[in-house]
Amino acid sequence: MYADIIIDITHEKLDKVFQYRIPSHLEGMLKVGTEVVVPFGKGNKEINGYVTGFSERAEYAPEKIKEILRIAEESVAIESRLVALAAWMKESYGGTMIQALKTVLPIKKKERAKEKQKVRLLLTESEGKEKLELYLHKNQRARARLLAALLDQPEQDYDFLIHKLNLTRSVIKALEEQKVLILESEQVYRNPVIYRQKRQKEIIYTEEQKIAIRKFSGDYDRKIYKTYLLYGVTGSGKTEVYMEMIAKVLNDGRQAIVLIPEIALTYQTVMRFYTRFGERVSILNSRMSQGERYDQMERVKKGEVDIMIGPRSALFTPFEKLGLIVIDEEHEPTYKSEQVPRFHARETAIERARMEGASVVLGSATPSLEAFYACECGRYQMLRLKMRTRKQELPQVYVADMREELKHGNRSILSDRLEELMQDRLDKKEQMMLFLNRRGYAGFVSCRACGYVVKCPHCDVSLSVHRGGKMVCHYCGYETQTVRNCPSCGSTYIGGFRAGTQQIEEIVKRKFPQARVLRMDMDTTKNKGGHEKILSKFADEEADIMIGTQMIVKGHDFPNVTLVGVLAADMSLYSDDYRSGERTFQLLTQAAGRAGRGRSPGEVVIQTYSPEHYSIQMAARQDYEGFYEKEMNYRDLMGYPPASQLMAVLMTGADEVRLATAAEYLKKYAVRVNTGEEIQVIGPASPSVGKVNDVYRKVLYLKSREYKELVWIKNHMERYIEINRGFADMRIQFDFNPMNIF
Ligand code: ADP
Ligand code: ZN
Ligand code: ZN
Repeated sequence: MYADIIIDITHEKLDKVFQYRIPSHLEGMLKVGTEVVVPFGKGNKEINGYVTGFSERAEYAPEKIKEILRIAEESVAIESRLVALAAWMKESYGGTMIQALKTVLPIKKKERAKEKQKVRLLLTESEGKEKLELYLHKNQRARARLLAALLDQPEQDYDFLIHKLNLTRSVIKALEEQKVLILESEQVYRNPVIYRQKRQKEIIYTEEQKIAIRKFSGDYDRKIYKTYLLYGVTGSGKTEVYMEMIAKVLNDGRQAIVLIPEIALTYQTVMRFYTRFGERVSILNSRMSQGERYDQMERVKKGEVDIMIGPRSALFTPFEKLGLIVIDEEHEPTYKSEQVPRFHARETAIERARMEGASVVLGSATPSLEAFYACECGRYQMLRLKMRTRKQELPQVYVADMREELKHGNRSILSDRLEELMQDRLDKKEQMMLFLNRRGYAGFVSCRACGYVVKCPHCDVSLSVHRGGKMVCHYCGYETQTVRNCPSCGSTYIGGFRAGTQQIEEIVKRKFPQARVLRMDMDTTKNKGGHEKILSKFADEEADIMIGTQMIVKGHDFPNVTLVGVLAADMSLYSDDYRSGERTFQLLTQAAGRAGRGRSPGEVVIQTYSPEHYSIQMAARQDYEGFYEKEMNYRDLMGYPPASQLMAVLMTGADEVRLATAAEYLKKYAVRVNTGEEIQVIGPASPSVGKVNDVYRKVLYLKSREYKELVWIKNHMERYIEINRGFADMRIQFDFNPMNIF
């Protein structure tokens, strides 16, 4: 018997299976996915590899075939089903098989969780309550939070407490010194979430929720497994629906995976699942150590877990009988991996579900164009939740036209409307958030007098300023001289928008000297936990105004926030990216959703130089379908996804001239090798960052109606690159339907 082995070296030339003989002492011990040690190359160096198949016939002269040495120590086998998924990922997204295998195996080595620190309360209940009074009296909120939590449950995990309560280490230390609590370490592994059975809220599902649940259950009972899009605004009860669907699958003896964007993976969310399903829920997140993650995977293999909640990588949880994959906030760009293979969790989940006979439920208030389009085409089934369960009103949204402000002599970064409302909130002691939209900013050029944006005549994306007085299109390479005067109105107010969060903070402090201001951006959150500290300060109402980048718009509920200002709403609109309209719409809708989460209704001011743009208009009206209609027209017209399929070929190399030549060759090759469906090849262009660490970059874009066609071309290109010496010292990667352009 022989085994096919994928060698653990990432190199295009070694990206194939090597045949090895199975020695008698390993007979019957190997499975697809087992990690083994084999002799490799001329010197018979020992190297690890994964078994991907078996055969009875030798492919070469049998005496030349080497023998497997042993099963790798400390190895973690990949489940056979996930090996098949890895093969699909390699095919669909490019890269080598070993890269794909490592992607579906997020934990490489056996590693037990390190010992854990626990916090134990030393006081009796009455002593504790007395102390709590004291802390509250002195307004020591963090101490009070910690003590209250310990009174609730006297023994808790150290890291978890810190995270859950947004504490600093010094708070725990202070209470230790006061002999309120004691720190202990514990060796044994436990469930990562300490939880106590809480009383479950009785929920009577709304009609809409019932319809969604009934549809899913009906299909499930008839063994119809498909992809659903649960489309409903925040607060419409999507999570309750997921949980009911999960219960259905669990009842049938199967398991479920719930994907949540890392940033939204909060204690509250996880707790809702625990409250309903108890100890059989587990989580994965980036704060956990390798050991903790490994333990979770072991619990899964032992059958101790039925529901795994986590970000993208949780998709590869090795459940025996997977029944359902839920992807919450499916439109989030973080579901796309930026490492080879550049897979999208949505598509990969659907493929895994297909292979294993499971269903997929995608949820969003602002679905990705891909998902909504797939519903229109009948590939996904739409489930709709139109109403909010608590019947809160949507916020009132104003659009401030910054061109008009300029005409009236207001050159400030704040519109008159926003300034007025800010003063009003300060007077009423309500909180507000100022959101600076900087996403995708790549130096686009716009006119502050009329809103005109300089765009590529061929691609309808904005041009970017390069050094040397040129504006360049990052899709097709089109170049033109920068302009001094606006081509539309002639004004000289044309150029890049330069304000950052820091400047905004200064301006706000100058205008409202009495206001307490917090800033949240890359600078202020550099330190570990910095992010959480700022959020908890704001939650404790220790500040009136929070200023920040897109970090502040996601996932957090601040009931006292009644005003949201969006500065430079168009910033993301004219980034040189075909998804910019969609991102802008999503960001603005989310930002607007931050206002008025509590009892009083919210107001939102969107400041823009292009109030007529449909992304802004539709976001102001919170009209997803109106937006979808317009955006699909654009994608269709320009041949961008999902109307058409797009493949980026990213090339990097140290020699600028040879890289450029190679890019031209690859372009010609693509045209030559294409025989089926019509394709369009654009570029080679220099990406927004043309050179990084002395490595030059080029990119080609290929468009086709058929994904299969692009995969076919990719496969040919991969072989062409492998055998052609001209590509020897270059790296070439593929990215299908990219989330960003390069
Ligand atoms: P989403 O996931 O769409 O944001 P959630 O499921 O979190 O919505 O629901 C928002 C809030 O409404 C939660 O507190 C939830 O417990 C509650 N809720 C959901 N469905 C109902 C219902 N049918 N009746 C009462 N409350 C509900
Ligand atoms: Zn162009
Ligand atoms: Zn102008």
